[in-house]
Amino acid sequence: MTIAANKVASIQYTVMDEEGQIIDSSEGGEPLVFLVGAQNVIQGLEEVLIGKNVGDKVKATVEPAKAYGEYNPEGVQEVPMDAFEGVDDIETGMAFTAETEQGPMNLIVTAIEGDMVTVDGNHPLAGKALTFDVTVEAVRDATDEEMAHGHVHGEGGHQH
Ligand code: ZN
Repeated sequence: MTIAANKVASIQYTVMDEEGQIIDSSEGGEPLVFLVGAQNVIQGLEEVLIGKNVGDKVKATVEPAKAYGEYNPEGVQEVPMDAFEGVDDIETGMAFTAETEQGPMNLIVTAIEGDMVTVDGNHPLAGKALTFDVTVEAVRDATDEEMAHGHVHGEGGHQH
């Protein structure tokens, strides 16, 4: 069976950044199981897997626009320390969720200077080209229910 929309694909994968550093890998663990055509995985990864079959190995580099997006300098803001009410120790590298007018936003503290804290709302992988090393382990038809929900059920998927 071939990977296409409305199929469920199981893959083993390793993803690396531009320096060849491994960011994430399923090696030694469960495969990544996803519904094709339902935006369960980044667009660029899905595109290179369409048409592939069980046992195929694929290595592909995905540009930022089809991965976690371009880096947006406007996502960086300076906020006063006072805004972190209830948080005891603000440290560089801390991640938290802020309520904004556009809804909840994930922020990472990138710098602290005096009473001002610099936060970055970009995804940590924004602006990065990602190289995927993938082996296709299994492909099956999605059930009607999975298609209706837009995600995989059962093994490797939602348990509900
Ligand atoms: Zn469901």
